Amino acid sequence: MQTSQRINSFRLFQRVLALGEVGRTEKGGVTRRALTEEDKKGHKLVSRWMKESGMTVRYDNFGNLIGCKEGTEPGLSPVIIGSHIDSVKNGGRFDGIIGVLGGIEIAQVLKEENFTHKRSLEVIAFCEEEGSRFNDGLFGSRGVVGKITQEDLRKTDEKNITRYEALLNFSDEIDPQKIDQSILSVKDVFVYLEMHIEQGPLLEEEDCAVGIVTHIAGPHWMNFTITGEAGHAGTVPMHLRKDPVPAASEIILYIENVCSDPNMKETVGTVGIVEVEPGGSNIIPSKVRFSLDLRDIDLKRREDLYEKVCGKVHEVCEKRQLQWRVDEGMRVPPVSCAPRVTNQLLKSMESLGLPQKTMVSGAGHDAMLLAEIAEMGMVFVRCRKGISHHPDEWADQDDIAKGTNVLLESARVFLNE
Ligand SMILES: [Zn+2]
Repeated sequence: MQTSQRINSFRLFQRVLALGEVGRTEKGGVTRRALTEEDKKGHKLVSRWMKESGMTVRYDNFGNLIGCKEGTEPGLSPVIIGSHIDSVKNGGRFDGIIGVLGGIEIAQVLKEENFTHKRSLEVIAFCEEEGSRFNDGLFGSRGVVGKITQEDLRKTDEKNITRYEALLNFSDEIDPQKIDQSILSVKDVFVYLEMHIEQGPLLEEEDCAVGIVTHIAGPHWMNFTITGEAGHAGTVPMHLRKDPVPAASEIILYIENVCSDPNMKETVGTVGIVEVEPGGSNIIPSKVRFSLDLRDIDLKRREDLYEKVCGKVHEVCEKRQLQWRVDEGMRVPPVSCAPRVTNQLLKSMESLGLPQKTMVSGAGHDAMLLAEIAEMGMVFVRCRKGISHHPDEWADQDDIAKGTNVLLESARVFLNE
């Protein structure tokens, strides 16, 4: 009879802190951008820990670092636990990290208790999730689901180094010419699990250490341009103006209002950029450009909201005799976690005496892509004040341990299914 251990929370936390020293900035944050020298040091540490946990370590051609603890029936598709270890500039020590190091800790516990499992356990640190070097994120996870093109490889960083060159120089094992060989399909993954800090304030507010994600919201980005007529702030009387700024204000308030509807709790709308032209304190502006980021877990509701906002823009601009235009950006559908996986994670929470909190992810993660080829589930861990991508990012040792134990208990089940 095997006895079920819990994870070693001290060992796990020490590793989180140790990795946080790699690329440490003067401001107390971490800069470990993908495929840089700092990233290489991080990868060295992580591969060492993977080996200590009884895993063999390899790279795929997207620069994803993969540890594998082989099961007794290697012909079966593996259970994969993944996340990322790259960071934004002057970012935090927990974002992505806890998912990868948590996975390694799980492998180590299973090794220490001689747990036998049919399926292999793979832990993956995906390449460039943050997009802080080549300006587009989720590179490694987009890669494994077949969404990377030659154009993505030709992207350059600020020193004009292409991603192709960066991959080539990172490790002898990576051959960006052969990315096709690293694409996975449905038969290559049994279940995909990811643990991540929440990056929001909900768990803290509700006094829960851990939450299970049911949906990942999909973002729809766009830019509105409203054009009127410039004029002298002193000489043009109010009734003769075609000022786009009050129009934009009306529209932005409308967006806040519709997104605050209590029946649309998972709907959020954010205007993050407002630019006024020509931009002088004594000039009536001729043009306003503002961005809009709409997110929801319900695609139809998000599309309806987009139509509503456009209708409002049209109405306001007609009333004020202004021209308007919308330019579309990213338009990603929301993703649902697999109910079978979510239910198992909730069962594990119950067995650990944790409240069965479920929630929605407003931010995108590697899991979003993996959902295209695998049944996917996500665990969120409370982080202090919801702060992330910042030196003040923090998650407690105990909370990370709880999240990892939930994953461990579920992994035990999936590994023998
Ligand atoms: Zn992350």
